[in-house]
Amino acid sequence: MQRNEYSVNNTNSPAQIAPVATIAPGFDTLGLSTPILKAVADEGYTTPTPIQLQSIPHVITGRDLLGIAQTGTGKTAAFALPILHRLMANQQRAGKGHCRVLVLSPTRELSGQIADSFRAYGRELPVRGAIVYGGVSFGPQARQLQSGVDVVVATPGRLLDHLGQGTLRLDRTEIFVLDEADQMLDLGFMRDIRKIIALLPAQRQNLFFSATMPREIGALADELLKDPVRVAVTPVATTASRVEQKIVFCEAAKKRQVLVDLLRNVATERTLVFARTKRGADRIVEHLERAGLPAGAIHGNKSQSQRERALGAFRAGSCRVLVATDIAARGIDVDAVGHVINFDLPNVAESYVHRIGRTARAGATGTAISLCAPEERGMLRDIERLIRKQIPRLDAPAEAAGARKAA
Ligand code: AMP
Repeated sequence: MQRNEYSVNNTNSPAQIAPVATIAPGFDTLGLSTPILKAVADEGYTTPTPIQLQSIPHVITGRDLLGIAQTGTGKTAAFALPILHRLMANQQRAGKGHCRVLVLSPTRELSGQIADSFRAYGRELPVRGAIVYGGVSFGPQARQLQSGVDVVVATPGRLLDHLGQGTLRLDRTEIFVLDEADQMLDLGFMRDIRKIIALLPAQRQNLFFSATMPREIGALADELLKDPVRVAVTPVATTASRVEQKIVFCEAAKKRQVLVDLLRNVATERTLVFARTKRGADRIVEHLERAGLPAGAIHGNKSQSQRERALGAFRAGSCRVLVATDIAARGIDVDAVGHVINFDLPNVAESYVHRIGRTARAGATGTAISLCAPEERGMLRDIERLIRKQIPRLDAPAEAAGARKAA
């Protein structure tokens, strides 16, 4: 097992003389090479998350993996770090029009973030990557792919276009990652995914991630994976327990005013507001702007550049409020989201957990406030059944403000 100069336990701290068993395992115990450990340290990560601890040593040896995990658990690094390690352990150029690693993800945002992670963790390494998604021109992607890249991160539709045009071939791909498989199912990508899998060589490593395991996803995992290591982290109820949650009952017609009050009095940090529909999201933004509260929107009807601009302003803190739909929000990885406000309750109870998890990234805590109209009480019951607790009720935002200040 190699130790390196970036280990947190090689200082003169008392931890150094403590029995080994009491020291939380560091990244240097996982078998990763020194340039990767250096990049991890540069990112400011000191301790592997549970999914990283349980996955990385196996992925390094070439095992298939089934990871039951949602965003916020550190799952991207759990696959990107050992993949980079394997690419470097067996250095060879990707042939023209081929890739050594294919990562499939459901949304443009998530693909961008995965590619950013590969870039950050591989900054010391001669690894070439490309992102492939729709909504941007085809030509530059095609030229990049034709020269041969190590890691392609792609959404299914545009990838199939490239495969059809012959700008990319998958017959020499060594590692295949399917991320957010359950979301792929929800978005209707299953046929595309099966077409893509059929083009991969039989001899390959498969890494499969999904937050939940509906029957179809379980069946796909069974077909795809050979003797996989199974890692399940952060069960739904655990994520929910890290977030302080409140419910405000109000008539649907009063929600916009309640939201303005909440944003003025309670949610003073970066706030993500969830709406059920794209039109609803736009209307909320218009209302907030009329009330003097600048807000951005991110949903499927926005162009790539509009989404990037809204996300960039939110990330930089110049726009404190971002209004999103569930699907657009899946890939948002912004640290320090202090509040999540559910303007509408989600139809599917599990989406509630994904939404509120946006404010508890990488172990942080946060606050989630949900506005519940009388007709949404059934949805609230489903959510409370899922998280196995009753969410405290607040009569009015003013009370929420008091609770926030006292907290
Ligand atoms: P993910 O689940 O991959 O979306 O990662 C969630 C967030 O956790 C990202 O912002 C990562 O940069 C961050 N992260 C991943 N691994 C670690 C770690 N070991 N320590 C601290 N932060 C991490």
